Amino acid sequence: MQLVRLMLRLLMHKLGLREVCPKAKINPVISIPKHAFFKLRNRYLADTLIRFLKSKTPSGCVRIGLTNKDISHTKGNIKDYEIMGLGYRPGSSCIISNYRLDKINLNEQLFKLAVHERGHTQGLSHCSIKPCYMRDAEGKKHKDEETGFYSKSMQYLKSQGWKLN
Ligand SMILES: [Zn+2]
Repeated sequence: MQLVRLMLRLLMHKLGLREVCPKAKINPVISIPKHAFFKLRNRYLADTLIRFLKSKTPSGCVRIGLTNKDISHTKGNIKDYEIMGLGYRPGSSCIISNYRLDKINLNEQLFKLAVHERGHTQGLSHCSIKPCYMRDAEGKKHKDEETGFYSKSMQYLKSQGWKLN
């Protein structure tokens, strides 16, 4: 729980979320819904978690869910594809998990993961530029190579009111 609150403060600070959305706030910790548990693989279904978060998100807002549980979703023919985060494009909620992140620089990696999924909810697709936060993970861990939003991602987010340098 400490991690969740720390992470959200970091997000608000780095992205200036309060400048973009004065109503941005840290919500109370909520229990993960049992119906999202996929017993066969001991994981939680990211799509179900996103729907759950969406049901608790007021119109016009976006909710970022943070969990330490392992999450997965169906990708193509793979029914249970392990992931670090998921966000629909566009969407009103997304989910990120620290379960598969390297424990070194965890806060920084969580931040990058959060802005990636938040970028999807804003409407952004993946970026082919390697150091871009919107790079597709493709099942690998390369958060350390990411340094910011680039090119079209940066321009698009600025057009949507994000305060980025
Ligand atoms: Zn993505």
